[in-house]
Amino acid sequence: MAEKLTSKKAMELEDKYGAHNYHPLPVVLSKGDGAFVWDVEGKRYFDFLSAYSAVNQGHSHPKIVNAMIEQAKKLTLTSRAFYNDCLGVYEKYITEYFGYDKVLPMNTGAEADETALKLCRKWAYEVKGIPDNEAKIIVCENNFHGRTITIVSMSTDPDARKNFGPFTPGFITIPYNDIPALEKTLEDENVAGFLVEPIQGEAGVYVPDEGYIKKAYDLCKAKNVLFIADEVQTGIARTGKLLACDHENVHPDILILGKAISGGVFPISAALANNEIMMTIKPGEHGSTFGGNPIAAKVAMAALEVVKDEKLAEKAEELGQIFREEMMKIDSEMIELVRGKGLLNAIIIKPKNGKTAWDVCMKMKENGVLAKPTHDHIIRFAPPLIITKEQLMEAIEIIKKSILSF
Ligand code: PLP
Repeated sequence: MAEKLTSKKAMELEDKYGAHNYHPLPVVLSKGDGAFVWDVEGKRYFDFLSAYSAVNQGHSHPKIVNAMIEQAKKLTLTSRAFYNDCLGVYEKYITEYFGYDKVLPMNTGAEADETALKLCRKWAYEVKGIPDNEAKIIVCENNFHGRTITIVSMSTDPDARKNFGPFTPGFITIPYNDIPALEKTLEDENVAGFLVEPIQGEAGVYVPDEGYIKKAYDLCKAKNVLFIADEVQTGIARTGKLLACDHENVHPDILILGKAISGGVFPISAALANNEIMMTIKPGEHGSTFGGNPIAAKVAMAALEVVKDEKLAEKAEELGQIFREEMMKIDSEMIELVRGKGLLNAIIIKPKNGKTAWDVCMKMKENGVLAKPTHDHIIRFAPPLIITKEQLMEAIEIIKKSILSF
């Protein structure tokens, strides 16, 4: 019989044979169900990361998993060299769901972001009439859009960029949540698009001022510039609405989705836009072998149905309020600030006696809640949206107890 894999052994294997491009919390998971995950020794935890908001519908949601299994038994992949009997049905479903003419299906968030950038440049030259190779796209400081060379070219995070140059040109960086800076930058006639996260997730759940997204959208419209929303992390009910842009009734020109579009069971992403933008891309100009595969089509439809059927946006809104209220009640000098929207929240940790956000996460892990620090001093809290109020209250008690133990 094969030797049972202990947590220690599993971590040793990753350390020895895997690239060291992540620094995980020392916990080895082998099972997930709803809001919970279990380690290989059988200890249960609340998952307060949800795979960076990919598992909004909860771990192994039966409807989504069944959609995957049923389709996997019939047809998994055709490539886009041929039609298949799932893709068109999915394209109709998702475009009606989000209110766009067309979708371009990809696999990862980064690919969907790349797709949006390419669509924006094509539109700039072929519709807006910007001279060849002159198009510029405005991005924000502290953005996170993924890890490709072009995407890190837009980044202001030294870790994301160091020794990865030379970088892709054509981006102008402005401060986030700064309307005057945007207005000024839009004076450049060669600006084609403004790419923005409605809440900056990786930056530490940085919520902009109320009205920022709407004002930014209106400024872009006045200058015939595409408003491109990266909702890979904020989308699909996480912030208490289907999209974070919905809080300000903004319908982006290009919408970028990933993560929870699959409920976390499969890599699926999408860029959505209307015909004026989407039809600039012709056969052979962009694509992906796996993008829009039959399993992805079925999984995404099931995952999006779950969001509506189980009213996940409404749940995120209600439980998010409770979460923030409870966190603000914790009487600890370590809590500098609590912020967030819906069930995408963060606590800024002030180190105490040398103890940092990492130590808080280790203590929470010991007590049964998994969360991960971002940028040393911020802890993001993003449980699956299917979490019940009772479960949330139980997890809140663990978080309180852990912080107060310092
Ligand atoms: N865009 C945003 C806003 C993200 O938060 C992420 C991942 O965290 C990405 C894009 C990249 O997605 P992926 O890791 O699937 O490439």
